[in-house]
Parts: sequence; structure tokens; C-alpha cells
Amino acid sequence: MRAQPPASHFIDGVFHEDVEGAPFESLYPATGEAIARLHVATPAAVELAVASAARAQVAWGRTSGAERGRVLRRAAAILRERNRELSELETLDTGKPIAETLVADAASGADCLDWFANLAGDIRGEHVELGQSFVYTRREPLGVCAGIGAWNYPIQIACWKAAPALACGNAMVFKPSETTPLSALKLAEILGEAGLPAGLFNVVQGSGEVGAALVAHPKVAKVSVTGSVATGSRVMRAAAETIKPVTLELGGKSPLIVFADADLDAAVSGALLGNFYSAGQICSNGTRVFVERSARAAFVGKLLARVAKIRLGDPLDEATGMGPLVSRAQMERVLAYMRLGQEEGATLECGGRAARVEGFPDGLFVEPTVFTGVSDGMRIAKEEIFGPVMSVFDFDGEDEVVARANATEFGLAAGVFTRDVQRAHRVVAQLQAGTCWINAYNLTPVEMPFGGVKRSGIGRENGRAAIEHYTQVKSVYVEMGTAEAPY
Ligand code: NDP
Repeated sequence: MRAQPPASHFIDGVFHEDVEGAPFESLYPATGEAIARLHVATPAAVELAVASAARAQVAWGRTSGAERGRVLRRAAAILRERNRELSELETLDTGKPIAETLVADAASGADCLDWFANLAGDIRGEHVELGQSFVYTRREPLGVCAGIGAWNYPIQIACWKAAPALACGNAMVFKPSETTPLSALKLAEILGEAGLPAGLFNVVQGSGEVGAALVAHPKVAKVSVTGSVATGSRVMRAAAETIKPVTLELGGKSPLIVFADADLDAAVSGALLGNFYSAGQICSNGTRVFVERSARAAFVGKLLARVAKIRLGDPLDEATGMGPLVSRAQMERVLAYMRLGQEEGATLECGGRAARVEGFPDGLFVEPTVFTGVSDGMRIAKEEIFGPVMSVFDFDGEDEVVARANATEFGLAAGVFTRDVQRAHRVVAQLQAGTCWINAYNLTPVEMPFGGVKRSGIGRENGRAAIEHYTQVKSVYVEMGTAEAPY
């Protein structure tokens, strides 16, 4: 077991094992090799984690923001120092190539911790004059927050939830995806090393049932989940029982619109980044690429030439551009959509099959795939695939493309490539999406609030906006005269 952690869970500042929980393994998607064996958290372990978080939160909530920030900043520095080791672990757990994990996973988690560390000392309410008397508001922590992660960016998702939660004075119990359980344990260890008091960041392992136990727990004050729309809907329904606020970062089927006047090479770069990074397993991917008809042939020509150069291979080799998918189930799902696109009559320009990679006979690799001639009604045009499958559509006019881009139940992200500055802003203003890019795609700096509209979610992660989702406002009226009553 080359990535075996000391124990399955991290509770109250230490690794914690409970062999009563069902065993499960983490598999390296490139080889199928088991890299760690863990146990699902039992109800007793969940209880311990929530109780320890509730205890620890009381003092943390009273600690100054500046002190909370110092701890998070130290954690960011340790993440950076250990970036190579953490990136290798993330590559083993997810199959994503090391060239990506070195720059996009623990590194972006560190950026997030740093940024919220700086903000922690500046969380404040308002002062409202009422003549003599006045009102002030306090932004107070919520208490114990539950974080529930997806498998595509395990440590990044854990940081995107933990950093603002802790900066605001909350405690967190985090449940990673059962598919990628390992890096959250490292984060817990590192936060401890940085001086975070025991109990403030606990990790419990398990599947949806463990997530559901956290959502239902009366001592959990808030839930933030990254996952599919179906899971988000279940979580929201369950959270309604105890009136918990939820942040939901869910799926998407985002449009990327390329006008004929765009820098086509840059637009192709955006489309590649928005479809093939992490083997296409990114929620905000621009999988519906609308290209203005007069530029279509040039765009597709440039696109296919660059897709042909994507190098599949050993995820631990820095020259590899694309790794395997995360699990066999995900691979079957993606291959089914590749077949479906052909059955529905779209033109398969490249890919469409499982890929053979020398030395990795059991690797879950699929070919980067491009369909053209896709019509809006096809299932590959409407459903989230979560794999390296791009659909290219033609369009003729601005109003037409905006209407077609918005004709989806999702609303996570959108992109526009054009050299016409007024058109760029006019189009973005009309797009029903929580996160938009102009002449770029899929860049998510921590300064930028991230999240969706429609069925893609509720709430925002990152940016100052996240503070609103990890604090509550208390209003305090201060009487400077005499209290009076009409009785
Ligand atoms: P899932 O929805 O299957 O799972 C997400 C998490 O929720 C997992 O930890 C899962 O546990 C847990 N879970 C499942 N059921 C419940 C429940 N009833 N109550 C509480 N927790 C539950 O998503 P995937 O992990 O398969 O991730 C892929 C999906 O995530 C895609 O749809 C993608 O678009 C979306 N996503 C959204 C992002 C965003 O920021 N908007 C970013 C990344 C992904 P387990 O899986 O261990 O059983």
C-alpha cells in the first residue's frame, strides 16, 4: 500500500481508526493497484468528530481574526513546502497527471488558505447611526460546518471549504469523496502542524451515507457540498429538516462562445483547457463550444491539430498531458456518451474510444474526443458527461447564440471569445451563469467568487462572497436614551 495513511479518519487532532466501519480501498486509476485501505466512518466516529468540532469551535470563535489568519498562513506555507509529495499523492488518488497536480491542486489550496488568512482579520459588521442611538452588526461564525467533497479536486475542494470556514471562526468536519479519500487527511495533519487547535478540522471517511449523517446532525450548523445536481438536491432537502444553510457547488454543461472576430488560437486554447484538463473531469468545463459559422472550419482545423498532440501516458511522468479517468464507473459512463454521440448522428472528429497506453494495460484511459455537427436536442448536448468530450456547434447571430447557450437547466459557467469589447460585455450580461470568462476559460483565482445559478448551485466559494456563507449577521440595537413603554 504505497499511500496508506496512519488511520482512516482524523478526529480531535489525531488520526483515528474504527475497524467496525466497512473497509474500502483507494485505487490508482492508471494501474488499478490498491494504494490505501480504509474504513467507512461509523455513526460513533461521526459523533466523535462533530462533538470535538463543537467543543473546539467555542474558543476558536473568540480568537482574533488576526491570530486565526496566522495559523492559516502557516498551513499555506507547509502546503507549498510539501507540494511535490502532496501532488504525487493526488496523482495516485485521482490519476490526474503530475504536470497538473503540481500547479493546480495543493498549490491552489495554499493560495486559498493564504487569501482567507489575510481576510480573517478584516471580517467586520456595520455601524448604523439612529440619531442618538445606534445599531451595530457583528459577523459571527455559524459553529460546526460540514464540508462534503467531490473526487476531481480533492485537496483543493477541502481548502476551498476549510479556509473560509476557519477564517470566519467555524470548525469543520470534512468528508472527502470515497473515491479520493487521502489528501484531506494530509490537510488535517498540516493544519495541526501549523497550530490549528485540535477538533477544528476533522476528516471522516465514507460514502453518501456518512455525508447524509453530517447533513442531518443537529449540531452541524451549515453544509457545503461539491458534487452532482442529484446529490445537491438530496442535501438541500435533508438540510431543510433542521433549517441549515447550504452552499451547493454542482454540475454544469457550460457554453463557450467563439465569435468570428476572436483570436482563434486563443479561443482554441480556451476550448482545450475547458474540455481536456483533468481528462475533462471539471464541473465548469465549456463542453458546448459554439463557433460562429464563418470561423468554424478554421477553428475546427486548429483544434484537431492540437488535440492530436495531447499526450496520454504515465501520470507520474511530467511530460504526460492527460491521465486516466478517476474510476471504472466514470470510464464506462464517458464511453457510453461517446457511443451515444455517434448513435445520435453527431460527427466524430477524433477519439471516441478507450485509449491504450503502453505499460498501463489496466489504466482507465479514454481518448480526447471532439464531436461536430451536434444539435441542441442531442443528449450529448444536454447532459453533463464529466470526461474529455467536446461538442462543437455552429451559430449565425448573437441573439441566437445567447438563447441557445441559456437553454439548459445548468448555469455554472460560460465563456466568450471576441475582440469586440462591447459585444463581450453585452453577451456576458445576458448569460445565465454564475462564473464567466472573457477571452479566457476555467481560470479560478481565489480572488474570484465561484459558483453557479439555476441547478448548478447556490452560494459562492472564494472571494469576499464566501465570507457571507460562513458567517451570520447579529444586529445589536443600542439605546442611548431611556427605554420607554406605552403602558
Ligand atoms: P457526487 O454527487 O456523487 O458526490 C459528491 C459528494 O457527496 C461525495 O463525497 C459523495 O459521497 C457525497 N454524497 C453522495 N450522496 C450524499 C447524500 N445523500 N448526502 C450527503 N453527501 C452525499 O459527485 P461526484 O463525487 O461524482 O463528483 C462529480 C460531480 O461533482 C459532477 O456532477 C460535477 O459537476 C460536480 N462538481 C461540481 C463542482 C463545482 O464546484 N460546481 C466541482 C467539482 C465537481 P461518495 O461519492 O463518497 O459516495
